Order: sequence, then structure tokens, then C-alpha cells
Amino acid sequence: MKFYQSKLLNNYSKLTHAFTCKESNNLAFHVNDIKKNVIQNHKHLAKELNYDYKTLVHMKQIHSNIVKIIDENDNFDNPPTCDALITNKKKTPLMVMVADCSPLLFFDPKQNVIATAHAGRAGAFENIIQNVILSFIHDFHSDIKDIIVSIGPAICQNCYEINNEIYQEVKERKLDFAVSKKGKKIYLDIRKILLKQLHVMGIKEKNIEISEICNCCHADTFYSYRKNNNTGRFAGIIML
Ligand SMILES: [Zn+2]
Repeated sequence: MKFYQSKLLNNYSKLTHAFTCKESNNLAFHVNDIKKNVIQNHKHLAKELNYDYKTLVHMKQIHSNIVKIIDENDNFDNPPTCDALITNKKKTPLMVMVADCSPLLFFDPKQNVIATAHAGRAGAFENIIQNVILSFIHDFHSDIKDIIVSIGPAICQNCYEINNEIYQEVKERKLDFAVSKKGKKIYLDIRKILLKQLHVMGIKEKNIEISEICNCCHADTFYSYRKNNNTGRFAGIIML
């Protein structure tokens, strides 16, 4: 598999999007990879998806719920520190990088607005989804019923065992609905939390797509940090 693509987002010919696989190699600069090789990987990807790699905006991801509206200072060499990006600018690809966390792509085809977000456990707990959707509504005048959300390959519940400390936090945050137990082992389903947050915000069921592919179960195809600590990052990418 070269790219994993969203069926929902594929309905829009004006939109470019993809979730990369290992075939596109590592796209992150902070993971012990050689910088010039990472740049080369970006150049290859840009060529395949038909954009200038210098126009790509990626992020210094910090497991926050911070959303950044793209401005003229944001570019490939100067990634903003945040965990979500939103824009209505054309030819400005947005990228999220992951290896177990959920990569989210958002699109409002009426207002022509795109966003991407990084949601691991922290992003799910701090509800980065809510902040992204509020930015669509307040900053770009989106109607909630128009917003489409696609969540790419990410770690599944069976691969995501949590310790008792995190379990306590899950309970405090009233997220127990996403927990399952097998004997003494406790597992967390991040996708369930994200889906609930989308429902609470009022995103229509028909506009939600969550990949069932687990990058950790399929670590031959995707990078997985749980499987191998010294690993690269794959990416979600979206462009108007
Ligand atoms: Zn799995």
C-alpha cells in the first residue's frame, strides 16, 4: 500500500489528501533520522502529491490541544508549536505526523476550509477535536453540519494497554466508556473517545470516517512507537 485514503475525502476532486505508509519513509525531523534524508522523503512525497515541499506546514507537536490558524510566517522550515492546523489557503498542504496517535483530517467543502490534528492520549483527554471544530465555526464561519472528519490508521484498543495511574485519570475524566479489561490488564480505546467528542460537537454521523486499521498491528506497513521505540513517523496530509 502506497497511501491509505479516506473514502469521504476522496469524493472531493478539489482536495488532495493522504495518509502515508512506510513506503514514503520517515517524515519527522525529531526521531534520530538524518536531516537531509528526511528532506528527501518530503521532496518525494511532494512530487507524488503535486505540491512544492517548501509550502508544506507541519508542526512541532507537543501533545497539547492548541490549534494554529496558518499565517504568512508558517512554512516548512518554521513549523508552529501546536497540535492542530487550520486554513482556507489554497496550495498550502497541512501535515500531522504520528506513530500510534490518531491523525485527523477535517474538511468543510462549503467554506473551503481544511484542518489537521494530532490526538494521542493527551490530545484525546484535552479534547483537541473541540478546539478544532470551534475554530471552524468561529474563525471560518463553518456550519457544523458541513464538516467532514477522517481519522487515519492509529493504535487499536488491543494494542493499547494502560497502567493503573492512567486508568485512574481515565475515570476522573469520566472516560471509562472507552476502557476494557482482560484479567488484570486494562486497555484504552482512543478512537471511542474521539468518536464521542465528534458526536458531542454535533458532527453528522455520515461525515465521520474512522479507519479500522491499527498501525501497531500492521507495523510492517506503518510506523509504530509501541512496537519499536526508535521509529519514524507517518503522516496525514491535506491540501486545498
Ligand atoms: Zn492493534
